[in-house]
Amino acid sequence: MNAATVLDSAPADVLAIAAHRDDVEQTCGGTLLRMAARGLRTAILDLTQGEAGTRGSAEERAEEAQEAARRLGVSWREALDLPDSAVQNTLENRLKIVRVLRLLRPRVVILPYGQARHPDHAAVAALGYEACFLSGLAKVETDLKPHRPFKIVYASLYADVRPSFIVDITPFIEQRHLALMAYRSQYANQPTGGALFVPEEEIRERTFAEARHYGLLAGVRYGEPFVQKEVGLVDDLTLVPVQSI
Ligand SMILES: [Zn+2]
Repeated sequence: MNAATVLDSAPADVLAIAAHRDDVEQTCGGTLLRMAARGLRTAILDLTQGEAGTRGSAEERAEEAQEAARRLGVSWREALDLPDSAVQNTLENRLKIVRVLRLLRPRVVILPYGQARHPDHAAVAALGYEACFLSGLAKVETDLKPHRPFKIVYASLYADVRPSFIVDITPFIEQRHLALMAYRSQYANQPTGGALFVPEEEIRERTFAEARHYGLLAGVRYGEPFVQKEVGLVDDLTLVPVQSI
């Protein structure tokens, strides 16, 4: 880990793990804002430093990621050094993530959904899951105590899959947009990558339209979708939070 630490490394309630700086801002930034507003400690682990991106350098993106973290209200954000666009589910990489899991001891981990256009996103779904499992094994020894997160959820915004649930991000969508716009090297209008990137004006329209779509599925204005793979356990049917029929 070599990016600057935001605040401290006290335990986190929710840790979002993603391949690239700016992934979390797009897929679950509103959820992190909502969790922070509820008083939970949130954290972000980016696995790569963005050196393969068409625009901007890894250094620029490191600064932008810290600013975005501030705008998302997260307590901790760092980046590992996995190769950008060549993320692989190896034991070495799993152990790098295990160290962070044992440091932050999150109750919930957010991973990208496993079916994705970018191979790094798909790789992180499997890599992150296996790291969460290994982290709980006493015989996988590091300098920190074993810890297994209670729950993993997959941020599925870009996947063609029916979400298990939606988080209402209506009060937080403007702030989420501000966090994404912290990545000036990526999203400000510029000649480099002009044919590859959407114009700045359209990013707002697209991201708000996606959030509106998922919000509608749950009867709210703006939402972020998640898939949960494990079966839920219910104590009281009247308290299961679903949209009324
Ligand atoms: Zn990405």
